[in-house]
Amino acid sequence: MMYSIFSLAREALRGHAGWKPAWRDAAPKPSYDAVIVGGGGHGLATAYYLAKEHGLTNIAVLEKSYIGSGNAGRNTTIIRSNYLLPGNERFYEKSMQLWEGLEQDFNYNAMVSQRGVLNLYHSDAQRDMYARRGNGMRLHGVDAELLDEAGVRAMYPYLDYANARFPIRGGLLQRRGGTARHDAVAWGFARGADRRGVDIVQNCEVTGINIEGGAVRGVETARGYIAANKVGLVCAGSTSRVASLAGLRLPIESHVLQAFVSEGIKPLIDGVVTFGAGHFYVSQSDKGGLVFGGDIDGYNSYAQRGSLPVVEDVMEGGTALLPMLGRLRVLRQWGGVMDMSMDGSPIIDRTPIAGLYLNCGWCYGGFKATPASGWCFAHTIARGEPHVINSELRLDRFATGALLDERGAGAQPNLH
Ligand SMILES: Cc1cc2nc3c(=O)[nH]c(=O)nc-3n(C[C@H](O)[C@H](O)[C@H](O)COP(=O)(O)OP(=O)(O)OC[C@H]3O[C@@H](n4cnc5c(N)ncnc54)[C@H](O)[C@@H]3O)c2cc1C
Repeated sequence: MMYSIFSLAREALRGHAGWKPAWRDAAPKPSYDAVIVGGGGHGLATAYYLAKEHGLTNIAVLEKSYIGSGNAGRNTTIIRSNYLLPGNERFYEKSMQLWEGLEQDFNYNAMVSQRGVLNLYHSDAQRDMYARRGNGMRLHGVDAELLDEAGVRAMYPYLDYANARFPIRGGLLQRRGGTARHDAVAWGFARGADRRGVDIVQNCEVTGINIEGGAVRGVETARGYIAANKVGLVCAGSTSRVASLAGLRLPIESHVLQAFVSEGIKPLIDGVVTFGAGHFYVSQSDKGGLVFGGDIDGYNSYAQRGSLPVVEDVMEGGTALLPMLGRLRVLRQWGGVMDMSMDGSPIIDRTPIAGLYLNCGWCYGGFKATPASGWCFAHTIARGEPHVINSELRLDRFATGALLDERGAGAQPNLH
């Protein structure tokens, strides 16, 4: 069923009795051409592009819970392509371009809103760093504007410009950045994949990976054995655990990242603003709540909830930037498990096991990558080799030393 103004009008006249479920609740078949493990945004996008771009439709997405129960439905919805290193920038810009046509492409309202992402700077050194990143972006044909203090004031007059320790000097703005409704993105990809024949199998945890003669042959699941000669692992925060089923030890650590939503208020923040002197960022949802977050919890965990010291740290950052935040009540707070890679950049690649492919290492920012991650991973699985766009997001870079250290933070960027 196509969604359009006509179907909406028709259903309005029929008491909305004719809407069909957006995707089938498929039961697993004994075998598929390819199996995707993980029904988050990236797994569903991979299945969608495998079917759409490569004509592979005898595939299943296996999700241990319900789709979107992981980080796909837990993130703070920011999309952007403001990276410095070429290996990252061309990938994230591909994602931004896919976002720009996504809703028409998969015929679903994902509330993609290009309201702008502004990174504030607070010192001359930070301005120079941001100028360099902005120039890098422009060299890739990506929009970037360096604003001075007056430019930022014109957009956001109520920030604390006179903060004694961290006065705001300006910011790097990407106007094409913004937000999208996170779970709608998972639903849109699910519906689009389902319409092309993909089986989306929920409550189907993968508990084993069958490897014979160095090649993958199938997976053990909570709903029985499923044979497949191609298996893609897209398990975000559970990556280490699932990859260990194939005997792989990865440069990935799992950490909790928290998000917060305040009570609803009148329109205050048009776009996304990030504090440059602490880990804090904020936007406002269409319902009026301020949506904000900060740093990861500093210890390894698989729990989808966070600790109080980080709550305190985020609130400190928030009130330093926006003192009026102190008068708001926080309505909701939750955590998601992040797959932190050891250079801060993702991995979309083959593995040493034939037919087994890996997509992980999304750190703080895999939501914005969702379309390109699916697009590139689908190419990698279908063709058996990476596309040029994900050619630097390789697994062996941790052995060869060709790291993508975007922040220049060195090893363990998760602890900086
Ligand atoms: C609080 C928070 C804020 C964030 N904010 C942003 C942001 O503003 N912008 C941004 O770009 N990114 C953000 N992120 C990061 C982003 O959400 C993730 O990087 C991205 O969603 C990860 O990809 P995914 O959607 O496929 O993950 P998930 O939705 O986590 O999908 C992985 C799936 O694998 C399933 N799974 C695990 N093990 C198994 C198994 N054995 N068998 C079957 N299925 C299994 C899980 O149940 C899960 O559904 C944020 C994350 C969090 C937690």
